[in-house]
Amino acid sequence: MENLETNPKKKIIKLDFKDVLFKPKRSKLESRRDVDLTRTFKFHNSGNEWTGVPVVASNMDGVGTFEVAKVLQEHKMLTVIRKHYTLEEWQAVEGVKMKYISVCTGTGVIWDPEAKDFATMKAVLKMYPDIKFITVDVANAYHENYADFIARLRDMYPDKTIVAGNVITGEMVEELIIRGADIVKCGIGPGSVCTTRLMTGVGVPQLSGIIECSDAANGIGGHIIADGGCVYPGDVSKAFGAGAHFTMLGGMLAGHEEGGGEIITKHHANGDAHQLADGTYVPYFKKQHFMQFYGMSSDEAMSKHGSRKDGYRGAEGKVVELPYKGKLQDTVTEILGGLRSTCTYIGAKRIKDMPKCTTFVRCTQQVNQIFNSFNV
Ligand code: 5GP
Repeated sequence: MENLETNPKKKIIKLDFKDVLFKPKRSKLESRRDVDLTRTFKFHNSGNEWTGVPVVASNMDGVGTFEVAKVLQEHKMLTVIRKHYTLEEWQAVEGVKMKYISVCTGTGVIWDPEAKDFATMKAVLKMYPDIKFITVDVANAYHENYADFIARLRDMYPDKTIVAGNVITGEMVEELIIRGADIVKCGIGPGSVCTTRLMTGVGVPQLSGIIECSDAANGIGGHIIADGGCVYPGDVSKAFGAGAHFTMLGGMLAGHEEGGGEIITKHHANGDAHQLADGTYVPYFKKQHFMQFYGMSSDEAMSKHGSRKDGYRGAEGKVVELPYKGKLQDTVTEILGGLRSTCTYIGAKRIKDMPKCTTFVRCTQQVNQIFNSFNV
């Protein structure tokens, strides 16, 4: 297929979640309850099988925590546990089902044999042999030494399911699977607190990227995780419709009690005022709660975790304050409810059927914006 990559004069535009909608289709499903959200996968290199709901919590601060995992496991969803937990914290873990978590490491061990995250990962896998997933998370998995690292890890752990990434092109998905990965994490720059696209100008719009990457993975028996860019439950559905085997969420799962961040209280004038006896007005203030959330390669994350500031690396993540969302359970119910509803609209009985039931229509406006311009 010709596209901008091969012919700059032909404008075949790559699309994001916001650029498409699902075309509704005749359906025999009578209720959202008839939809099966679980999938069973057999992984290409590890040979392991896993059954669950393929929505995954990202290994970010405020998201990839043990407390989040305890909520998500009740829905058979996976959590990639952030790599900064100490061995002592792992030892003290209670009530986490190992089937529904992944350990995580970076690749610092390539340069530093003493790298803490890799040593912790090895010790955790020894301590909890029931953990079957290893996630090797780097912002840019296009380096040759990254693929070499995956190959070495495959030799070390032949029976673990290795998640590698991030990339967003078919040829690199194939490369990583051939070198030993089972699942490739796809997304360069779509994240809610990511600034890679602004800092570097690099990236591929997420929906088109997922279509290309899942096609490449399917061709050789691998799987992909669509990582980043989901803002609404409908985006999670679109990722599955585009062929993602798993969808990873950061921002949508952040800002909850279980993420463990500090709650920030602020007072905003709510527009009303109280008149005093002397005729002057005193504004009423409304209390609002927020929680900090930041990209894992932001300055905030680097200073929290003591990462290298070597003078030639810029931050590629930002810090935001999210309105505090309370219990995670309510958000999860909303996300899974949206997914079920999409399935009934397009006639998909299972998540697995979503790609073949999906016809995306290109749109210029996915929602009616009229009341957004009013201050209500
Ligand atoms: P979200 O669901 O919030 O849109 O995206 C989550 C994903 O953003 C994560 O799983 C991770 O791949 C990516 N991410 C997290 N922190 C950073 C960061 O600081 N910089 C970049 N480039 N990506 C990040």
